[in-house]
Amino acid sequence: MTGKVDLHTHTYYSDGALSPRELVTRAHEVGISILSITDHDNIDGIPEALEAAKDFGIEVIPGVELSSTLGTKDIHVLGYMFDPDNTQLRDTLEFLRKERFIRAERIVRKLNSMDMPLDFDIVLEHAGHGAVGRPHIAAAMLDEGLTSEYAEAFDQYIGDSGPAFEPKYKISPEDAVEIIANAGGVSIVAHPGWYVGEQDLSYLIRAGVDGIEVVHPAHDEARQRYYRGIASTYFLLEGGGSDFHGGKRNDYQNFGTYTVSHDIVRAMKRRLFIQ
Ligand code: AMP
Ligand code: ZN
Ligand code: FE
Ligand code: FE
Repeated sequence: MTGKVDLHTHTYYSDGALSPRELVTRAHEVGISILSITDHDNIDGIPEALEAAKDFGIEVIPGVELSSTLGTKDIHVLGYMFDPDNTQLRDTLEFLRKERFIRAERIVRKLNSMDMPLDFDIVLEHAGHGAVGRPHIAAAMLDEGLTSEYAEAFDQYIGDSGPAFEPKYKISPEDAVEIIANAGGVSIVAHPGWYVGEQDLSYLIRAGVDGIEVVHPAHDEARQRYYRGIASTYFLLEGGGSDFHGGKRNDYQNFGTYTVSHDIVRAMKRRLFIQ
């Protein structure tokens, strides 16, 4: 099989700009033959992507990027090749979605009590198909003229130490690894270069993660070599991709640029005894 492999992308089912079909179409245009859609805490884009993939002869690998928390740090865990119909996985994602909704409502109520007439429905419009969060609240505040800048919404109101902040329900990295494993998939620590130090990484390896993301726009050559070394020492899978979102992020040049070899997909399948 020829063509490029990208194992990390987002659609409008989380914070990406494109629909699954648009993403698959673009993947074909940039020469990708194996694509995984890894929306944040959401797998609703997978059926549409699988349908679209048939039209282009592309292989779509079911994926997800679970948000977990270790101490004060956000650890993103990528999951691949799981059963999208797995009940525990679906229930967890549904629970997280509901929790986010309730939390966003709470934040808006706090803002309302601070003389900010923000309508929750407008926030939901900004969220679209994606799980509602603070970026949507900030965007809605900006649109409604309640703040003069996007960053100001965080600085003065909804940032981690702001007066309208509400904490989010958290799952641990161990939970994330277990949920993915129980659904028959492999787990890979996303972009460790962002925040995951050596100690955290060894903790995650002991927690049973199957691999680490090596190729990512946030990793330079030296960092990639470093993670390849760790992967080879601990017999881990070497993941990678563009983390493409599209839209305002303007990261179109990354799509088709940050790719991995077909061997990685084969290695993932071997671990799961898939032909
Ligand atoms: P949530 O998951 O709803 O807590 O939102 C987290 C997201 O909000 C992060 O991924 C950032 O995109 C954004 N965010 C958090 N803090 C700030 C900040 N101080 N300034 C701008 N964006 C922020
Ligand atoms: Zn994202
Ligand atoms: Fe991430
Ligand atoms: Fe991502």
